[in-house]
Order: sequence, then structure tokens, then C-alpha cells
Amino acid sequence: MKEFSIIDTFFKQQSHQRKDVLLGIGDDAALTLVPAGQALVTTTDTLIAGVHFLPDAEPRTIARKAVAVNLSDLAAMGAEPAWLSLSISLPAADEAWLGAFSAGIAEMTQFYSIQLIGGDTVQGPLAVTITAQGFVPPEQALLRSKGKPGDFIYVTGTLGDAGLGLDLLLNKTTVRNPEHAQFALNRLHNPTPRLLVGTSLRRLANACIDLSDGLISDIRHILQASNCGAMINLDKLPLSLAMRESVEPQRAVNYALSAGDDYELLFTVSDEQKGKLEIAMANTNVCFTCIGQLNGMGNKLEFRLNNNVIDYQSTGYQHF
Ligand code: ADP
Ligand code: MG
Repeated sequence: MKEFSIIDTFFKQQSHQRKDVLLGIGDDAALTLVPAGQALVTTTDTLIAGVHFLPDAEPRTIARKAVAVNLSDLAAMGAEPAWLSLSISLPAADEAWLGAFSAGIAEMTQFYSIQLIGGDTVQGPLAVTITAQGFVPPEQALLRSKGKPGDFIYVTGTLGDAGLGLDLLLNKTTVRNPEHAQFALNRLHNPTPRLLVGTSLRRLANACIDLSDGLISDIRHILQASNCGAMINLDKLPLSLAMRESVEPQRAVNYALSAGDDYELLFTVSDEQKGKLEIAMANTNVCFTCIGQLNGMGNKLEFRLNNNVIDYQSTGYQHF
């Protein structure tokens, strides 16, 4: 199969179509309309076989996750998603693989009402790069740099599940209950971009980031950019039933703090906005938990267990 018939067969027809796309796939570049008064938000992420997914991973899963991780970045900016571009490097034009992969992309475009507007198709080692674009009123974008001492720190959902899923996939651990294993694997393969939460946090949250590399790594970006310190209550970290019933408490905290791929949002909210936050979050149906507070102490990250300051390293918790 030639490059052009691959594009026509698998990518051109299948996407959801939007009115703000004047010209999609097929010319030298796409033409799109940005709504008046909105900033264009652009993010890109590459997934490489053998690095970000196993070489034999299901193509539909790879496609869905590649889209989801990009949408998660838009969510973390408070943006509403609109368009995708897809650059794919393939060892061979395997039609079964491409059929399943493009079905995964198409499903995501339908579900999120976004359009695939272009890309590039080349021969090479298996790798997928997606660029996602969306809109946010410029003054309402959620930045890493807007955290203030005294802000409460929140996370959506539960933490560490994808890390548990990865360890199950790599046969590094086992869990007794097969439903818990399935849950963790699903969290790894099918992250949920918190788009509705992101847009609901406009005008409410000060700083926001999505958790892709693990809470400790990611919160440091907010501390650096906002020039704050933070205190995290280890006993407040939200853990799923699967995590609590499958993993001993200390290891569960390790997963929650250090494992990547959760794609939950971490955000900070001033004391005055807490009431409004409760109302806004109730409409999203996404659970959220206050796990700590920003402070003015340098860029230090401090941990407490049942209100006592603890040395996370020396209590035996290990980063992995
Ligand atoms: P050019 O050579 O001008 O860069 P290409 O031949 O690479 O154009 O692509 C032709 C059209 O197909 C362009 O509109 C491009 O954006 C689109 N396209 C190429 N590969 C993909 C893909 N994997 N997914 C979506 N659109 C693609
Ligand atoms: Mg061209």
C-alpha cells in the first residue's frame, strides 16, 4: 500500500468533522478558524514503541492513549479541544494494524468532537506523534506559575493505578483479585483526560498540571514555576479500591507519589475559592481530594503522615 492510499483509506474519511475546519486532510496544510477572543492552545506528545508502549501493544489502544495524553495536556491548560494532527512512523503498511489504529483515532475524535486535520506518514521504527490544539480565553488559561502560598492542593481521581497496571503488564507484581488487575490495566491503557474538570477550573484554580510522570516529579514543576513550597499529607492521597485491596499501604503510597501515567489533574485553589470549587466540581462527577497546601518555604516539598512531618525517604518509601 502506498502512502497516499494509506492516508485516504485510514485517516481522511474516518474522523469526526467540525465546522471550524475550512480545509482538513489532503492539501499541503490545514486551514482552521480560531473563535474570536480565544487563544489557540497547542501541545504535542510522542509515543515510541519499546519506550512508551510494548512493541506488541494493541494498535487501537496505542491510538486511543496517544490522543488521550495530548488531550490531558489541553485539560491541564483549561482548554477545550478542537483539532488533532498525527505523524506516524511505521515499519510496514500492515493493513490490519492500520485499520485498528485508525479506528482508535476515529473513536476518540467522535467521543471528544474533535477533528483529525493532518499529519505525516513515513516508514521507520514504530512511533506515533500527536499534536492537539484547542481554545481557552487567554486570561483564563491554567498555568503552572500561578500558585500562591496558602493555596490548597487538589488532585482528581485516584493516584498510582497506572503504575500498578504497568507492573502487572511487566509481570513485576501480581494481585489476587482479577477485577482489580483489570481495573489497573485499564487505567494504564485508557487514561481519561480530565477535560471537563479543566474548563470548570477556569477562574477558580491558580496553578494546574496534569500528572504524567508521577506526583513528586510533576508538583515540582508547579513549585519551581510558582516559587512556592508544598506540604503533602500522605494519609490523604486518594487510592482506588483496587490499590487498597491489592497492595500494602507503603507500596500504595509509593505508587501514588512516584508512578507515572495517571493523567489526573493536580491544581491549587485559594481559600476564598474553595466554596465555588465544590460547586463546580460537583457538576463534573469527577472525585477530587485535597492532599496538601502550598507555602512560602523555598521550593521545598514536605510530607506529613497523620499531621507529623516525616522523612519520606528514611521511612522506607522508595522511588522507582
Ligand atoms: P506534504 O508532502 O505536502 O507534506 P503529505 O503527502 O505528507 O503532504 O500529506 C498529504 C496530506 O495528508 C496532508 O494534508 C497531510 O496533513 C495529510 N496526512 C498525511 N499523513 C497523515 C496522517 N497519518 N494522518 C492524518 N493526515 C495525514
Ligand atoms: Mg506539501
